[in-house]
Amino acid sequence: MSEPVSSTRQAQMFYVLAPEEIARMSRFGIPRHFIEGEQVLRTGKASPGIYLVLSGIIRITGRDAHGHNFPVVEHGPGAFSGELSQLSGKPSFVDGVAVGEVDAIEINAGGLHALLISEAALGEKIMRAMILRRVALIEAGAGGPVLIGAAASHDVARLRGFLNRNGIPHQLLDPASDADAQAFVERYAPEPGQLPLAVCPNGEVLRNPAENELARCIGMLDTDPADTVYDVAIVGAGPAGLAAAVYAGSEGLSVLVIDARAFGGQAGASARIENYFGFPTGISGQALTARGYTQAQKFGARMLIPMDARRLDCEPADRGEPMTLELGDGRTVRARTVVIASGARYRRPAECSNLMTMEGHGVWYWASPMEAKLCAGGEVVLVGGGNSAGQAAVFLSEHASKVWMLVRGPSLAASMSKYLIDRIAATTNIELLTRTEITHVSGSRESGVESVSWRSHGGETQQRLIHHVFLFLGADPSTEWLKDCPVAVDGRGFITTGHDAMLPLQTSVPGVFAIGDVRAGSVKRVGGAIGEGAAVVSQIHAYLQ
Ligand SMILES: Cc1cc2nc3c(=O)[nH]c(=O)nc-3n(C[C@H](O)[C@H](O)[C@H](O)COP(=O)(O)OP(=O)(O)OC[C@H]3O[C@@H](n4cnc5c(N)ncnc54)[C@H](O)[C@@H]3O)c2cc1C
Repeated sequence: MSEPVSSTRQAQMFYVLAPEEIARMSRFGIPRHFIEGEQVLRTGKASPGIYLVLSGIIRITGRDAHGHNFPVVEHGPGAFSGELSQLSGKPSFVDGVAVGEVDAIEINAGGLHALLISEAALGEKIMRAMILRRVALIEAGAGGPVLIGAAASHDVARLRGFLNRNGIPHQLLDPASDADAQAFVERYAPEPGQLPLAVCPNGEVLRNPAENELARCIGMLDTDPADTVYDVAIVGAGPAGLAAAVYAGSEGLSVLVIDARAFGGQAGASARIENYFGFPTGISGQALTARGYTQAQKFGARMLIPMDARRLDCEPADRGEPMTLELGDGRTVRARTVVIASGARYRRPAECSNLMTMEGHGVWYWASPMEAKLCAGGEVVLVGGGNSAGQAAVFLSEHASKVWMLVRGPSLAASMSKYLIDRIAATTNIELLTRTEITHVSGSRESGVESVSWRSHGGETQQRLIHHVFLFLGADPSTEWLKDCPVAVDGRGFITTGHDAMLPLQTSVPGVFAIGDVRAGSVKRVGGAIGEGAAVVSQIHAYLQ
């Protein structure tokens, strides 16, 4: 097991600046004085910024799940407070108190962004320290919400999954083994349906909250003042949206990113992306997009997650005025340009249990040479009757011992080209089962798919020991929220761009751009989505000029 960063990376995590670095950093803030015992930071409260200590000490403590303080570090002269929350003015995960008289430089989020960009070498040290501190907080579970409930409960797993995906430190207390938690439950959750409880850093207690309620109590949904007009609002924090946020932020545009679930999009569900440029041993989608998420905030992008965009009023763009996005909680935000990066959802079979759990662990939505290698010599199941399903079946038949091809309809004739139907018929190790539906995929994320069950028209079910399932049922673009903004789409609902004299990634509506999987003709790959996120920014500049 790897050592926690709190014990291996102390020097980087609590970097102490040399005198000339102190002078350079001081230019980005204002002087502050704290008297002995004064509270500098408070868990659950937004801090005005980070503090560079010039004299005296700021003592940092964390709070454990029972609310007891534990020592974290003492920042003396040349050290600075703060972790990733301070990039966007979010609530603090720790407490800080002045020991003796303290002189410090307070650097707010704006100053911090300016520092990170204009002082590259120093900025790298500060950014690394802030990332390591967040990692250490996650390891210690300090400062974030405390969940109270049984570890095995579905709702505990749901909330922990949400907090993990968003990199929020938290702790779990199980009432079965913890007397304090038991007392809490008796007081706050007399009814079983009220569990789990979530105790927010500000002391608020939520009963079996939805993800957005939990997000609100930990400050993830705080916004800028209502009259703010962003240069660009990006809907979707998948690879495309995050890349656009990084490039737009780094080029000085004010950016708001909105995502209905978590950062990472579909890529966040990928256990290992093997074909992304520059990562020869592969990288998990979560790790790749977490870097983009942090990087975008380094360049000042504001994040609203989880929050869905409900409606876009793009009509003001015709008059050169800011557009309005309506959010899921009824609030509105305004922006001069909007980037649609809301991706696509692969269709899933209507009634197949355990399928979503196994995505990326033996359930695949495409068949590249990598997946073909994984299933070499074994049997596979392929579901779908379109041309892409046919091509994949022929391709996989060259690697697998047998391809079971399941189709709901009576034949392939209505959905597949004749040449592919002939090729499938001529391939001896493809067995076509018409009027057949996949019903269950067994296995766990650790073991991978262990067996697959399907049911024929007559109601007979069959279960086979098969470890790979390929689904080729098509994808639907996530565009329902655009019903009141008439962007042109293709026959399948994907957004078309580059009409007539328009910029290549601009939709039929001026000032509205589309990138990544939601765009007609995009390659439906992480690399393509990121490339479009980078490319759209120069087109936004061209539009805004
Ligand atoms: C299991 C799996 C494994 C994959 N593995 C690979 C791989 O190995 N290599 C590869 O190149 N590609 C892979 N892909 C494909 C790749 O993930 C996608 O091409 C890529 O994620 C597309 O990025 P995107 O940003 O365009 O859209 P998405 O990743 O789909 O992100 C869209 C985001 O928009 C948000 N959203 C949607 N509607 C709204 C709304 N109304 N309001 C707010 N937010 C909204 C969603 O919550 C989502 O987070 C994989 C996909 C899956 C599902």
